[in-house]
Amino acid sequence: MLMSYEKVRKQIEHKPIKLARYEKFNSRKKRKFGKTVYPCRKCGKTRGVIRKYGLIYCRQCFREEAEKLGFRKYS
Ligand SMILES: [Zn+2]
Repeated sequence: MLMSYEKVRKQIEHKPIKLARYEKFNSRKKRKFGKTVYPCRKCGKTRGVIRKYGLIYCRQCFREEAEKLGFRKYS
């Protein structure tokens, strides 16, 4: 899933000066803790992320991946 940040970044990739300014003022704040530290590994969502058993999938992706991962009962 492309967020607007990635879309704009792609448009100005070949303009190094503009890109540097864009990154300085628009990139996500780097955190040591908080929800943005663990985005879903499949889609990158930060809401409803399951960290139990080291899954790091959001609840929607977990539902799709659960059977492949070996879960028998998942909903
Ligand atoms: Zn996900």
